[in-house]
Amino acid sequence: MSANIGFIGLGNMGGPMASNLLKAGHKVKVFDLMPAAVEKLAASGATVCQDAKQACDDVQVLISMLPASIHVENLYLGEAGILSSIAPQTLVVDCSTIAPETSRLVAANAAERGIQMLDAPVSGGVGGAVAATLTFIVGGEKAALELARPIFENMGKNIFHAGAAGAGQVAKFCNNMLLSVLMTGTAEALQLGVDNGLDAGVLSEIMRQSSGGNWALEVYNPYPGVMDNVPASKDYEGGFLVDLMIKDLGLAMEAALQQGASVPLGSLARNLYINHGKAGYGRKDFSSIQKIYNKDEPES
Ligand code: NAD
Repeated sequence: MSANIGFIGLGNMGGPMASNLLKAGHKVKVFDLMPAAVEKLAASGATVCQDAKQACDDVQVLISMLPASIHVENLYLGEAGILSSIAPQTLVVDCSTIAPETSRLVAANAAERGIQMLDAPVSGGVGGAVAATLTFIVGGEKAALELARPIFENMGKNIFHAGAAGAGQVAKFCNNMLLSVLMTGTAEALQLGVDNGLDAGVLSEIMRQSSGGNWALEVYNPYPGVMDNVPASKDYEGGFLVDLMIKDLGLAMEAALQQGASVPLGSLARNLYINHGKAGYGRKDFSSIQKIYNKDEPES
């Protein structure tokens, strides 16, 4: 069924997600601070809004996809915050990856106004956003998730209910912390094998089918040339940026500090990624962590 949807934040992820909603037959009103991002969507049939408040008018669902906590807090609760412009029957879905406490704060303010709100960070990267195969990791009321499900299905494949408000964010950074550890460990093992005379492809296949098998070896090999169509074979272009991984690991570390949780591997992975970013790889895919093990190109 066609819905009226407002979409705020049309960057690498939000742009293709909004585009898939248009393809699914929804009427989509869009807003972004960058005119170029808005123009792309306008060309696909979206209605352009002059400000964020316009994107809230007369919509059943409002989706935001912004960089970080500060942007989400400002958008909803800041000086020109839009929460007061949202009608109570609107379902609000924030897909940004942000701190759980910010999700909870905005959701609590929304609830005071009778507005249902979900945090629904995604996994699957820009490729998943374009192909409508994202995974939505949702925090909030189960009933609100069921209302949003058909919309999520237009943009993704898997939809998980992680728990109450903020739980989507917690599950998301746990997953990304594990991913950073797996990717770094995989890169380390591959370079060790290569330095000892093995072929990276042969070693990858042995480990993939052995007890070291993991997602990086299955679909996202970090060693250049082992797999086609992964960032490692395209000079680490595209994919999931090192800067974004650093941001997500920061969220994990903050949560660990708050709870007194011990996260030695996540902490080490974060420090490796921070040094890697400082060495100029911030805008490269996170599998470029392979480079830190290259004896010919040491980073530090
Ligand atoms: P991006 O920087 O490409 O896009 C963010 C967009 O938000 C920009 O176009 C910016 O102009 C806009 N924006 C910022 N503040 C705004 C405001 N107040 N009003 C309107 N527009 C505003 O970022 P992205 O890669 O699309 O990522 C968005 C979120 O998704 C982040 O939280 C990121 O961590 C998460 N994420 C990204 C990926 C990925 O691979 N890129 C994967 C999963 C999750």
